Amino acid sequence: MPIVGSGWKMNHLRSDIADYAAAVRKGLADVDTTQLELFVLPPFTGLVTAHEAFSGTGIAIGGQNMHWAEHGAFTGEISARMLRDVGCSHVALGHAERFQYFGESYEAVGLKVAAALENDLKPILCLGEGVEDKEEGRAEEVLGSQLSMALTKVSPEDLPRIILAYEPRWAIGQKAAADPAYVLERHRGLRATIEERHGSAAAAAIRIIYGGSVDRSNAGTLMALQEVDGLFVGRYAWSAEGFIDIVRIVAAHHSKGRMP
Ligand code: PEP
Repeated sequence: MPIVGSGWKMNHLRSDIADYAAAVRKGLADVDTTQLELFVLPPFTGLVTAHEAFSGTGIAIGGQNMHWAEHGAFTGEISARMLRDVGCSHVALGHAERFQYFGESYEAVGLKVAAALENDLKPILCLGEGVEDKEEGRAEEVLGSQLSMALTKVSPEDLPRIILAYEPRWAIGQKAAADPAYVLERHRGLRATIEERHGSAAAAAIRIIYGGSVDRSNAGTLMALQEVDGLFVGRYAWSAEGFIDIVRIVAAHHSKGRMP
């Protein structure tokens, strides 16, 4: 089932969320969304509103981050149980901006992935190399080590519950997405790493989505790549119209099949 998700970052008040959801309901009324996995990740303050506003649309709600502990003296943090409590089914972990601005580490991401799974939340595990890693030919190595730190506490049976979001850091917030041939190579590499470490069943089952400057001009080409199981969209889907565009493109590709 192809995936389309949008991380809203630090955007949208509750009133915007109600309008966004109403527009999406209308804009996707003729699309069979049961054939897609759709999610939006509002800021924490919008989760309750989003849960109500999107109910019955088939669009899941998720957090943009969480703490690994269940509760305790962790000022400013939110736990997996709290996300469940407000209707979340998904949570993004290890987003590039958490590393860039908030001192995130893959050790912490590993704890968060395990806590999310224990609490029945689907982790959207973000992975991506920096520009220097890419220029120095180290992308594969960097992704392999991010993956091993993030999955240390995960058993192979749980891998299908995780969505891997390949988001090259140099392609986030840019004018253009990464080149499709490059995306294909990285997705193949990630799947091969999963196969080597966790077996072929896990490699076949894990979903790998692409994120980084996706918009209506590149979504079709990216989705046509056999190894791309969906799209993770930032800016372009902060508007309901953008989200609708991408869902429609992905739904159309799904019904047509993929390029090898
Ligand atoms: C992101 O930050 O995860 C992202 C994909 O952003 P954008 O689409 O704006 O590049």
